[in-house]
Amino acid sequence: MNPEQVLKWLESVYQRLPVGRCDGCRDCASRCAGDVPMLSTEYQAIRQYLADEGQRIPPPPRRLSTQMMARCRFLDQYSRWCAIYPVRPLICRLFGLVEWLPCPIRKQKVVVAEGWKLMRQYAELGPRPFTHWHEQAPQPSQMVRENTGI
Ligand code: SF4
Ligand code: SF4
Repeated sequence: MNPEQVLKWLESVYQRLPVGRCDGCRDCASRCAGDVPMLSTEYQAIRQYLADEGQRIPPPPRRLSTQMMARCRFLDQYSRWCAIYPVRPLICRLFGLVEWLPCPIRKQKVVVAEGWKLMRQYAELGPRPFTHWHEQAPQPSQMVRENTGI
């Protein structure tokens, strides 16, 4: 699939996923940990969203211990809210909706019966952790240099 087709596929998948009982709920924020995997298209959407909102990309939080994963860099540790909620990647949208990411408070029901099939298709598109894409992307200072030829 070319990037345009990936975007269309993602949009159609996102539209099919109900938010339902998750809307406004933060009770599984403790699962928001690690370097979230995503497609390059999703990385670009996050970057654009933060730029439009006038926000910087948060730095990765430090791990509290070698046994525990650090929280996701987009989780606000005080409000427990996702800073990129409208553009969160697919894996985050599946919380509570698939059998391997069940709702911890049993409020949301498993509704994506073919979750594994969906993830196989997704895996073929090459998801990588956020940091992977970020390290490859031109950084703002680099972009200024490229645009001005300095
Ligand atoms: S999966 Fe459950 S705990 Fe998580 S946001 Fe949805 S309703 Fe809340
Ligand atoms: S991107 Fe948002 S929803 Fe996904 S793990 Fe991070 S804080 Fe949670």
